[in-house]
Amino acid sequence: MIDPFGRRVNYLRVSVTDRCDLRCVYCMAEDMTFLPKGDILSLEELERLCGAFVRKGVRKIRLTGGEPLVRRNVMSLIGGLGALVRDGALDELTLTTNGTQLSRHAEGLVAAGVRRINVSLDTLDARKFAGITRWGRLEQVLDGILAARQAGLAVKINTVALKGVNEDEYDRLVEWCGVHGFDLCLIETMPMGEIEGGRTDQYLPLSRVRARLQERWTLADSDYTTGGPARYATVAETGRRIGFITPLTHNFCESCNRVRVTCTGTLYMCLGQEDAVDLRAPLRSSEGDQGLDAAIDAAIARKPRGHDFVIDRDARPAVPRHMSVTGG
Ligand code: SAM
Repeated sequence: MIDPFGRRVNYLRVSVTDRCDLRCVYCMAEDMTFLPKGDILSLEELERLCGAFVRKGVRKIRLTGGEPLVRRNVMSLIGGLGALVRDGALDELTLTTNGTQLSRHAEGLVAAGVRRINVSLDTLDARKFAGITRWGRLEQVLDGILAARQAGLAVKINTVALKGVNEDEYDRLVEWCGVHGFDLCLIETMPMGEIEGGRTDQYLPLSRVRARLQERWTLADSDYTTGGPARYATVAETGRRIGFITPLTHNFCESCNRVRVTCTGTLYMCLGQEDAVDLRAPLRSSEGDQGLDAAIDAAIARKPRGHDFVIDRDARPAVPRHMSVTGG
């Protein structure tokens, strides 16, 4: 699949549920309204949808949400997609998780063919963690992360940089990741969906964070890529990588290779734009995939050049949907 700007689309991110067991303050409002069940694709439908993308050249699938591991029976979908990795039809199946359910699922993930996961963790301080996630227990997540490592999964920690919240913790996170053998990725907060409080109060440009990190750590730029938007450096003192995802200070759209499908089968061609194509109707209207294939082709032909996130005091969110809809 080649888009109008000549970019090859070979990476699909699939939000398998809009529900989550946490309520991170920058991601969701506390009183979110979730989708009715009938709107949501069954696990079989999600697998069929992924299969259509794989036939069209997708080589990497990332499951996300909401929280992917809270969807009932999600391991059956993961097993089905893992078989595509074993057959060589897919290079990688991975997921982004908040880690709360990892203790019970880590071994199953490995057995299904998952090799690498991203775990979102914004702080190592239990009180702050409870504050950021509204409902979360840090210990449960740390146990999950260690279970994942024990099971043999490579773990990358994703941390959203939040001004005045975790900005005093990045040195500690670099060190902790070094001790445990995890890569770390810092992310700028993006203006998606209405939340309580303002985005400008939380936004911290990573250019500033990196400059501060360099006072303590030796960072050497690296060509390493996982096919996602992060730019990496190696931390000489720990030997681990640190990634920076900078949608605001440095727009990374020129190399965008991905599209995102929600749990209702809505395909978003850009995280930061509203244009979308419904794949549920063609998926449900026929057992054959002709209509579905045509809808996917039409969508790729509409992939926009990029997002234009801006955070300023009076601005509305760049897109009205929350990150939990498209999955980040
Ligand atoms: N529940 C899973 C998790 O916690 O990783 C997957 C979904 S969550 C929406 C995916 C990632 O998006 C998390 O790392 C989260 O911190 C990040 N995220 C959510 N809202 C964001 C925002 N407004 N700006 C930047 N990152 C955001």
